[in-house]
Amino acid sequence: MKFICGSDEHGVPITIKAKKEGITPQQVVDKYHKMMAASFKEFGISFDIYSRTSNKVHHETASEFFKTLYDKKIFTEEITEHYFDEKANQFLADRYIVGTCPKCGNENAYGDQCEKCGSTLSPTDLINPKSTLSGEKPVLRKTKNWFLPLDKMQSQIEKYIESHKDWKVNVYGQCKSWLDQKLQPRAMTRDLDWGVKVPLKDAEGKVLYVWFDAPIGYISATKELFASHAELGSASANNKTLKQVQGDSQEWKKYWQDKDTRLVHFIGKDNIVFHCIIFPAMLMAHGDYVLPDNVPANEFLNLEGDKISTSRNWAVWLHEYLKEFPNKQDVLRYVLTSNAPETKDNDFTWKDFQQKNNSELVAILGNFVNRTMVLTQKYFENKVPPAEEFTKGDVLLMEEMSRFPKKISSSLDSFKFREALAEMMNLARAGNKYLAENEPWKLSDQKRIGSVLNICLQVCANLAVACEPFLPNTSVSLSSILNIGKLNWRDAGRTDILKTGHQLGTAKLLFDKIEDAVIEKQVAKLQESRTQNPESNTTMTNATIDDFKKLDIRVGRIIEANDFPEAKKPAYKLKIDFGKETGMKNSSAQITKNYTKEQLKGKLILAVVNFPPRKVGPFVSEVLTLGVPDKNNETVLVEPGKDVEVGGKLS
Ligand SMILES: [Zn+2]
Repeated sequence: MKFICGSDEHGVPITIKAKKEGITPQQVVDKYHKMMAASFKEFGISFDIYSRTSNKVHHETASEFFKTLYDKKIFTEEITEHYFDEKANQFLADRYIVGTCPKCGNENAYGDQCEKCGSTLSPTDLINPKSTLSGEKPVLRKTKNWFLPLDKMQSQIEKYIESHKDWKVNVYGQCKSWLDQKLQPRAMTRDLDWGVKVPLKDAEGKVLYVWFDAPIGYISATKELFASHAELGSASANNKTLKQVQGDSQEWKKYWQDKDTRLVHFIGKDNIVFHCIIFPAMLMAHGDYVLPDNVPANEFLNLEGDKISTSRNWAVWLHEYLKEFPNKQDVLRYVLTSNAPETKDNDFTWKDFQQKNNSELVAILGNFVNRTMVLTQKYFENKVPPAEEFTKGDVLLMEEMSRFPKKISSSLDSFKFREALAEMMNLARAGNKYLAENEPWKLSDQKRIGSVLNICLQVCANLAVACEPFLPNTSVSLSSILNIGKLNWRDAGRTDILKTGHQLGTAKLLFDKIEDAVIEKQVAKLQESRTQNPESNTTMTNATIDDFKKLDIRVGRIIEANDFPEAKKPAYKLKIDFGKETGMKNSSAQITKNYTKEQLKGKLILAVVNFPPRKVGPFVSEVLTLGVPDKNNETVLVEPGKDVEVGGKLS
């Protein structure tokens, strides 16, 4: 088994970022590749190779792949018209064209999308198009590109997807919906100067489409992996050709061209179509390769109820996290795994982070290990006592111990990482419960105390193995507390890992409590970036009926309105009654210009009641009252026109 990963370093957004920062695209990708590789390492995420698509080996591999398809006459050539900037002397990618949105009149809509109204656009839809490179009006010019005829491959791809009904529902469903809409030919080349050059004579100024070259990156990285290992990671490796780093090794083929190879892609849902339809279509067309066997894609993870966005700084940056939570990599790993959006979108909140740390890692896992160690020190001078004569309860726990490895590995094998992690925690929970029920500190029979603690210590040793895939640092700490070397998975389930008389190491707390103030600081930091990036509130994408159903919007009656002197902008503190089901909620509202406190009292309004509570200074705003701006851009509350019942749900 090999874990292959890498940075995808081509595509238009990188060239835009480079222009913005006044540096070259290469400098952009150098910076981010280094940052990402460092973060993976810091957080205990390891690969057999972490490569990048700007490497020479990759350019060679991708261009050879394209050439093979070209020679097999797979592509269709099509001449289409695209906007061209005569001053900058180049074709313009959709994102390089701005103009007025024909749907909403926004003057800064992009060639592919209006971020104000969320419409998907084509560059020729824009009124008054302008090039962002020169500010000039672009002209339409003919250009030739090479298309992968996905339409002709429809039935072949359908057959492939239908043979994978075992895939996760969200993945299979998305593929089905693409296929139902009928596949269209897709251009595999672009008029752009950043990327893998199209290896054809009449293709000057063209590169491979980023989603053509990026997945081939997995193949290139595998080639590099089996190349001379001394070269890997060295600064010079990036510029070496395949021949130079690989010699004649064909070892990589075993992982790509042997029919028994199982290829699995771990990705997010926005990349499903590329890994499940386009890449397999490319591999089918080539003919020498195995197809992805599974693509257990995750859905999206949001942050405090809002879509994560690095450009708006609505994110938790790993390097900042490490500074603020030193040595707590495993806490973040734990929370992310237990919250992983495996089947639907999920939300990361700081409150939940604190709660999972305090009431699971500290209270269950950490507490169990610590109590076991302290008691062993007290009664047996920190040596493993012998276990004699087992009670029914002892046997039950030992049976549970021997059962858990199979449970965890079968969950992992079916990509149910949350479930696997929960099984690990269940073992700690069982240990905790056993200790509480047996109360060795109340016993006088030394033999019995010894048996209880021996079993608890065996559970600790098993936890050191069981937590390794999820909490690698904790696994190391726990092994050192127990004074044992690194255990193997095959040791898991054994009830005699620690021998009688074994000298244990020094007890120390595996996790510590995270206080409210620490969490409040993180929430405030995020809110700060929200005020600094107000456009975040106007960015729209198409919503689905499911998105709408997620919102719990209810009628409430304002019971109290009070001044809010601590707020940054003039606001009231409202107390709103939402009836039996939802109860009384607090909310802050910037509506002082349009309403007096007296006018607000008794008013019926609408509010979203299921957003996570938001800190506004010293006050917690629990619901979001709905309002619209008047002509002075001051908020007017949305009120139900007729007298409706408090607590009524918008539908
Ligand atoms: Zn628009």
